[in-house]
Amino acid sequence: MSPVAATARLTDLDREALSAWCSKRGAESYRADQIRRWVFGKRVNDIDAMHDVPASLRTKLQEQFVLFESKVVRHQISTDRTEKLLLELHDGEHVECVLMRETSRRTVCISTQVGCAMGCVFCASGLNGVKRNLATGEILEQVLRLDRLLKADERITNVVVMGIGEPLANLRATLPALDTLNEKGALGLGARRITVSTVGLPEGIRALAAHGKPYNLAVSLHAPNDELRNRIVPVNANIGLDAILAAADEYFEKTGRRVTYEYVLLRGINDEVEHAKQLGTLLRDRNAHVNLIPMNPVEPLNLDAPAAVQMTKFVERLEQAGVNVTLRKRKGADIDAACGQLRLQEQTVTLESSITP
Ligand code: SAH
Repeated sequence: MSPVAATARLTDLDREALSAWCSKRGAESYRADQIRRWVFGKRVNDIDAMHDVPASLRTKLQEQFVLFESKVVRHQISTDRTEKLLLELHDGEHVECVLMRETSRRTVCISTQVGCAMGCVFCASGLNGVKRNLATGEILEQVLRLDRLLKADERITNVVVMGIGEPLANLRATLPALDTLNEKGALGLGARRITVSTVGLPEGIRALAAHGKPYNLAVSLHAPNDELRNRIVPVNANIGLDAILAAADEYFEKTGRRVTYEYVLLRGINDEVEHAKQLGTLLRDRNAHVNLIPMNPVEPLNLDAPAAVQMTKFVERLEQAGVNVTLRKRKGADIDAACGQLRLQEQTVTLESSITP
């Protein structure tokens, strides 16, 4: 008897597991590479379309696996050509993923959990807590779905793990997914084109560093001192900025990758010149890049981005401190592209914690 259930996801198997599966059925192990080329390179939508795989093997594959398990329940296209999918999973839960087009870049943003346990007060994803982790195949399916929206001559150039969920709280499924994206016989995307964004879990950051692939690390800081960060990012109370920065410094030492610090600008909360000054002091001697993100309004929350002039002052103050900084442009604003907003529309929200300017 096979340990694999009748409708397992093909994308849950890494190269080794698929090749072992092939061998067990009397097929040459190179068939695994062939199958993976169809899935990741040649964009087939069902197993039967894998023409050079022997029909008998295709039948066996179909008996055990599905290529796409999720259903696309919404597909939105923004005026700036950003596209967003709301996927329904086998258990009726929903996740979102986004495709962004910018000059020659095709960046996809993917989710790693259904909901999020971190509770950041400005974020739509965590409003109802976390339901469950995604499996490796559920993470990869998002990339494959978005890949199939591209024209034949277009390729995904970057992957950012900045969708719903905390990736470092689900490393077990996330790492194999990233490794498959990185692998030559699969998507073949350079490690430097893959970014993992975290609320700042020191142990997770160390585990990612120990994994040994130079993926980019982005740490969502949002405040330059613990007192303010505890209000904006509740899990900070048990962690603290010092521990996060120490882990991020180690990440840089081990991988040689410059760490990005994300900072969502919230009007009247963390947007004062004094905050920029403190942030400058924290980061000026580190090899850091700051990515300022204007707050993207979320329906039940009373939070907004600062006025443009305030954001410019913030940027200038950081630059004065010698910190490398960019102010992120909003993409897909007209389709609620940011952070769990589509999924939220499917839910009722009870506000447990909130913050006001
Ligand atoms: N849990 C991870 C990854 C998901 S959030 C993390 O915390 O980094 C990805 C990024 O989107 C984070 O920097 C987060 O702060 C930002 N974000 C979430 N909600 C937002 C909103 N309403 N407006 C702007 N940025 C938001």
